[in-house]
Amino acid sequence: MAERITGHTELIGLMAYPIRHSSSPAMHNEAFAYLGLDYAYLAFEVDNDTLEDAVKGLRALKMVGSNVSMPNKTVVHKYLDKLSPAAELCGAVNTIVNENGVLTGHITDGIGYMKSLKDNNIDVIGKKMTIVGSGGAATAIEVQAALDGVAEMSIFNIRDKFWDNAQETVNKISERTNCKVALYDLADLDKLKAEIADSYLFANATGMGMKPLEGQTYIPDKSFFRPDLIVTDVVYSPRETAMLKMAKEVGCKTMNGMGMMLFQGAAAFEMWTGKEMPIEHMKKVLDIKYD
Ligand code: NAD
Repeated sequence: MAERITGHTELIGLMAYPIRHSSSPAMHNEAFAYLGLDYAYLAFEVDNDTLEDAVKGLRALKMVGSNVSMPNKTVVHKYLDKLSPAAELCGAVNTIVNENGVLTGHITDGIGYMKSLKDNNIDVIGKKMTIVGSGGAATAIEVQAALDGVAEMSIFNIRDKFWDNAQETVNKISERTNCKVALYDLADLDKLKAEIADSYLFANATGMGMKPLEGQTYIPDKSFFRPDLIVTDVVYSPRETAMLKMAKEVGCKTMNGMGMMLFQGAAAFEMWTGKEMPIEHMKKVLDIKYD
């Protein structure tokens, strides 16, 4: 008789829409199987209209927890009991942990990015970074980097609907952390060049470089980079964006978004199970190699 799922198996969910393309179920179930842990991770098509009922269901079924993705990340806090400091600062949640009926919302994207740096022997703590973006991924990284002790951060964004959020993030980081932070318009390329020149690390935290912007970058030419600069990208499909290709040609150490993806999952995995995700095994499964 099949024994993988029994009457004891604990359920963890993923609430988002659309969600069938997600690699999270395969990633978590592989890690459960590898460690022999009795959990199952399933994706559920949940949008803003069904989110409240889905969270009630999570409570009623005593599920261990859930991941939350778009369009629910900035809405789900309304149905939870507590938020982690990072989730509160970001105004977003990607992980729910159910502890005896008390639901806490966490955001692990920023933790994932910072852990992937560490795993790749990149130490940005106490140093300056320049980052482009003020959407979900960017805000999570900016908040976590500031909480973790990055000394100085220059944030750039285009003047689109995310600009106000960028300003808000800068205000919150200034009020709540010791990080010195400033916001600039990405259209000011002279400023971008100067801030990158003064930074230990440069990060793209926008969808630039990924479909429908695949093959594109807002970095005008190689003179923006120097060989001892670290250049990272949140994009992982393609694994090498036009920006990372340019950085590699200059001789920079680079990192794509695969590590962030793995470690944001690993942080949630640990919160739910109390066990560390088998990182080296998962790196092999996901074919994650650092440059
Ligand atoms: P979002 O829609 O919340 O934010 C989009 C950001 O891109 C904003 O800052 C916006 O101003 C900027 N932007 C849009 N068009 C631009 C352009 N033409 N030039 C410059 N900036 C532009 O998106 P998100 O959820 O933050 O996702 C952003 C990227 O991060 C996506 O590629 C996503 O796949 C990736 N991501 C990766 C991980 C990971 O684990 N590696 C996790 C989350 C998101």
